[in-house]
Amino acid sequence: MLLHWLIFPITQSRVTFIFFIPAIVLATTIAGRGPAVLVAVVGLINSAVMKSPGMLMVPNSAEQVSLISSALVSIMVILVGDYYRSISRRELSDLHELHELSATLAGIAGLSDQLRLILSTFARMHAATQGIICTYPARGDTLSVAASIGFGHEGKPEVRDGGLVFVDRQRVVVADTETDARAAGFRDWLRALGVRAIHSTPLISRDGEILGVLSVHFPEPRRPSDREIRIADICARKAAIFIERARAEELVSQRDRRFQSVLESSGVPFIILSPVHGEAGKIVDFRFLFLNTAAASVMRVRPGEYAGRKVTDVLPRAWDDRPRFDMYVDALEHNEIRQIERQTEADGNANWYHIVASPLDGDLAVWFADITRRKLQERELLDADRRKDEFLATLAHELRNPLAPIRQAATIARSDLATDAQKRWSNNVIERQVQHMSLLLDDLLDVSRITHGTLQLRKQSADLQSILGAAVETARPLIDERRHQLVVEAPDDLQVNADPLRLAQVLSNLLTNAAKYTAPHGSIRVMVAQHDGEFSVSVEDNGIGIAPEELPKVFGMFAQVRSAQEHAAGGLGIGLALAKGIVELHGGRIEAASAGIGKGSRFTVHLPDNVVATMVAPTPAAVRGGNGLSNKRILLADDNRDAAESLAIILRLEGHEVDLAHDGQSALRSFESRRPDVALLDIGMPNSNGYEVARRIRAVPEGRDVLLIAITGWAQDADKIESRAAGFDHHLTKPIEPDALIGLLALP
Ligand code: ADP
Repeated sequence: MLLHWLIFPITQSRVTFIFFIPAIVLATTIAGRGPAVLVAVVGLINSAVMKSPGMLMVPNSAEQVSLISSALVSIMVILVGDYYRSISRRELSDLHELHELSATLAGIAGLSDQLRLILSTFARMHAATQGIICTYPARGDTLSVAASIGFGHEGKPEVRDGGLVFVDRQRVVVADTETDARAAGFRDWLRALGVRAIHSTPLISRDGEILGVLSVHFPEPRRPSDREIRIADICARKAAIFIERARAEELVSQRDRRFQSVLESSGVPFIILSPVHGEAGKIVDFRFLFLNTAAASVMRVRPGEYAGRKVTDVLPRAWDDRPRFDMYVDALEHNEIRQIERQTEADGNANWYHIVASPLDGDLAVWFADITRRKLQERELLDADRRKDEFLATLAHELRNPLAPIRQAATIARSDLATDAQKRWSNNVIERQVQHMSLLLDDLLDVSRITHGTLQLRKQSADLQSILGAAVETARPLIDERRHQLVVEAPDDLQVNADPLRLAQVLSNLLTNAAKYTAPHGSIRVMVAQHDGEFSVSVEDNGIGIAPEELPKVFGMFAQVRSAQEHAAGGLGIGLALAKGIVELHGGRIEAASAGIGKGSRFTVHLPDNVVATMVAPTPAAVRGGNGLSNKRILLADDNRDAAESLAIILRLEGHEVDLAHDGQSALRSFESRRPDVALLDIGMPNSNGYEVARRIRAVPEGRDVLLIAITGWAQDADKIESRAAGFDHHLTKPIEPDALIGLLALP
């Protein structure tokens, strides 16, 4: 108006009020409808004042029409301006709301709070009082309510697709639930909830997966405006982002939890270390970041106790094990896995660990696999290997020992100059040494039978006294030689149901050991006791004794205690293993006791009570050969001429007639021509072996009654079965006991 009056002297009333419209637009935009109306009224009055009042009164005069049209234009301008003003104000407020939402969401931690805020903002911007946001679980297709407003509790149970929400890839607008067929099934329920219109927007992930749905509900029929659709899209997008983020976080924390629980539940000790750098930038120590339960228990701490502390603070001597420290540093510096086997004393025991260090984002993951048992087994294997080598050396020595006297005695016996006494002496020497060797071989065979479980006991009722007597008889030469004093305390009347030969073998072994491992003029005591359902025989000496740590080992195969080796001409180290095997076959056990080195030893054989026979049964008469029964015609076939001839001499001395053959075919020829009563056949012969010859003899009628005896180096049960199958009556093992053979021949 001011401007108008300023230019009035120039324009006079020729120019109408040109600032009128802009002034109304300005007033509407800035101040709203009211002030704009005021401006328009003032402008119109001003225009009217400038016109001549007489002209204004003239109906349809130009002045009157111009004033009325100015008023109409002002009204239109005010209405249009006000409309655009309200739109821009709402957009501004929308922007403001959405900005507020983003800012607040950034500060909220939990997904359900985030979704609740999105929903409430969304509903407010729709001026809706009811709304629901539903989500699908990460794995599964059951929609569940994440947040709701305006439904109290009733809204929650029935949100399934098609109820309060509609899940589709597209937005679903049910403008009127009374007329829309999609809401047909839920009308009563929707009515009860006061819902008449539904606007559902899907929450879609970046990968196109439907994560859930965002819905608002209205009490009146309604269709969302473009603005509301835009807001729905923005809010749905925001909700999808937060759901995806929460899922990703859940996935990470789930993996974390799994990783943690695997590490925790693993029996393998595991730690994570972070390097501690010194001034020069070199790694000087490590810090514990994590210890699993197994590691904590190995270190005897609670899992959290070491976390964050330097290794040397809690284990000051940890890096005395330099190779291990260097291995950790090396793994970190080269960013490669390194491993090492170390014996550590972390838990107070010197256990062996296979340690694997693996770089982990600048830290070090370290596993400790306990390999103590493997190491022990390795050591045991090495030990067994060493004992086996020692055994072979001893065996070679033991077998070679008798050869020298035998060779010398044979030379003397052959000499024409030797007197009869010298020849007899030589024969004794040879016999003794051969006896010694065959005992050795018997022991070896027995050990092998025990190991293979093929040793059979020949149990019978026998007198313990005579078993002891036989054992003492065997050990007697050594006991006497070393001038020991032997005391045997045993009841006279004890009968046992056992294999007398094997039991005597066990006891003679114990007695021989006692004699061997006791300095001359020692004393040896044998005691028999019966109590607690078992009876025991113990052999006690006052000899070199056994160190406590060696006690458990003495029954092992090839076991020889060092001090014993140094003290006496030890045997093969199989005697006690054999004794243990035989006693166990009887259902008993054998124990060694000693108060220590130099304090003597006691070996006790415990046998169960059922070994003690209740009745005195007659002992079977020993098979004893005689000279006078009946002389036999004997075919003796052996490709070892010396063996054959020497045996022939013995048999002839017994009064038998002996024909010799040195292979299978000549044995058969001799059988046909001479018709012997007895055939002694070696098994391993050229031109038909002993089995073959036996079968051929048995095949002819004249051969049915012939006494067939196999003489062989093969003494396994399987060999005996085979010889019996071939028709042999007896099976004698080389070197044969002449007496046993003579006894067999004496049988009727
Ligand atoms: P060996 O043939 O060496 O005697 P054994 O199996 O009979 O083998 O005995 C095993 C080891 O047990 C012997 O080497 C010896 O060290 C120890 N031992 C056995 N009996 C006695 C004992 N009476 N006193 C001391 N040590 C013994």
